[in-house]
Amino acid sequence: MSTLEDTIAAIATPVGDAGIAVIRISGPRAIEICDQRFRGKRPLSGVATQTAHYGDFENRNGERIDEVVATIFRGPHSFTAEDVVEIGCHGGSYVTKTVLAALVESGARHAEPGEFTKRAFLNGRIDLSQAEAVADLIHARSRLSHQASIQQLSGRISQQIQRLRKSILDISSLLELELDFTEEGIDLLKKEDLLGGLTQIISSIQQLINSYERGRIVRDGVKVVLAGRPNVGKSSILNSLLNYDRAIVSEVPGTTRDTLEENISIGGLLFSITDTAGLRDSFDKIEEMGVERARKELQSADVILLVMDSSSRYLPEDFRLVRECELEAKKLGGRLLILENKIDLPDANNENQEWSWLNGVTRIRLSAKTGQSIEQLRSNLLECAQGSERSFEAGSAIITSQRHRECLSRAKTFLETALVQGEKGTSPELIADNLNLSTKALGEIIGEVTSDEILNNIFSHFCIGK
Ligand code: GDP
Repeated sequence: MSTLEDTIAAIATPVGDAGIAVIRISGPRAIEICDQRFRGKRPLSGVATQTAHYGDFENRNGERIDEVVATIFRGPHSFTAEDVVEIGCHGGSYVTKTVLAALVESGARHAEPGEFTKRAFLNGRIDLSQAEAVADLIHARSRLSHQASIQQLSGRISQQIQRLRKSILDISSLLELELDFTEEGIDLLKKEDLLGGLTQIISSIQQLINSYERGRIVRDGVKVVLAGRPNVGKSSILNSLLNYDRAIVSEVPGTTRDTLEENISIGGLLFSITDTAGLRDSFDKIEEMGVERARKELQSADVILLVMDSSSRYLPEDFRLVRECELEAKKLGGRLLILENKIDLPDANNENQEWSWLNGVTRIRLSAKTGQSIEQLRSNLLECAQGSERSFEAGSAIITSQRHRECLSRAKTFLETALVQGEKGTSPELIADNLNLSTKALGEIIGEVTSDEILNNIFSHFCIGK
C-alpha cells in the first residue's frame, strides 16, 4: 500500500556502468534517513534547501560505500513537492544498489514505477497531462516530439482544457440558475446563445481531436514500411537512408526474413522505417511467416515505400503488388511512394514504362548503390508528413495522447446530446446533466476527475526512479 506518508527511494539513472549515478529519495523522512548514512561536514538536517554537500556514504557497520554528493530540496520547492535528496555517487550497479539498499534498511521504501511523478501530481505541483508529458519528454526521440512534450509540460494542453471546462461551466451555471426561476418564467439564457455557445465549444474540441493524427506522428514518428519483391534493394535503401549498414544486404533472394525497424530523423521529425521480408509466394515456412508479417506491417503504415528493380522487366506480379499497396495505403489514408531502384545499372530501361494507369502516386527513380535521388526520397518522405511540422508554428495546442483523444471524444458526445436537447427545448436540468458529464470527461485529462485505475495505468508505464 503506498501512501504519501512513506518515504520512497530509487535509482534514477539507467542501470549499468557509468561515471556517476543518482539515487533519489522523497518523502517526509528523506533527509533524516540520509543522515543515518551520510557523513559530511554537518548533518543534512541543518543545511539550507537547494544546496549540495560532499561526504561519505556508509553502510550500517560504518564502512564507506562511496564518496557522494547529496543535494537537498526541501518541499514544496522540489520535483515531488516533498523533501527530496538526490545522492550522486559513482555509477556502477554494485555501488548504486548498495546505496539504495542502505536507504531502504534505514526506513525508505522502494519506489514504484513513476511514483516520484505521481507524487508531484498528487501533491498538486503538476496536473495529469503535465505528468504524462514528463514520460514523453524522457522518451522524445526527435526535435518535434521534444517540442510537443515541453509544451505539454509547460501546461499548454492544461490551459486549453481549463478554458473549455470554464466555458461549459458558465453555460451550465446559467441553466441551473434558470431552474431556480422556472416559476417566474425568467429566461437567463437565450436559446440562440445556448446553441451558439455549445457549437463553438464542440468545434474547439473537434479541432483538438483532429490534431491527434498530427500529434501521434510527432510523438511516435511516421511509420514507413519498405515493401517489394525479394532482392529489389529494400535493405540497401534502408541503409542509404540510415547512412550505415544496419540491415544485412545479400545477393540471395529472401534474406530479410523478419521485419527490421530503424529510426531516422528528417527535418526534426521521427520516421520509423520497417524493412520487411520480400513479398512473394514462398515455399519456405519461415519466409512465409515473414511475408505474412510484411503484409500486416503494410496495414498500419503511414507511408508505404514500394521498391521495384528497374533493371529487370516489370512483370504482371509487380503491378499486382503496386495495386495491393495502393489499396492498403488508401484504406487508412496513408501514402504510397514507388521507388524504382538500381537506375545505375545499364539495364535500367523502364523509364518509358506505361504508368498512366496509376494516378496521383509519386514515383522516384533512384539508386541505393550510388545514392542518386536518396535526398529526393528524404524530401518526399517529409512531404508525406506535412502539417505535423507546421502545426507548432500555428501556436495551437496539439494532443499526442490517445487517452486525451478518448476523453475529448466523450466530452464532445455529451455536448452534442446537450445541443440536440437545446434545439428541442428539453428541460434545462437534463441539458445541465450532459454538460456536467462533459466537464468530467475533460477533467480526466488534467486529473481533476480521476480514478486509481486511470492513475495506475498511466504511471505504471513510467520507469522506476521517475
Ligand atoms: P532486398 O532483398 O530487397 O532487401 O535487396 P537487398 O538490399 O538485399 O539488395 C539485393 C541486391 O541488389 C544486393 O546485391 C545489392 O547490392 C543490390 N542492389 C541494391 N540496390 C542497388 C542499386 O541501387 N544498384 C545496384 N547496382 N545494385 C543494388
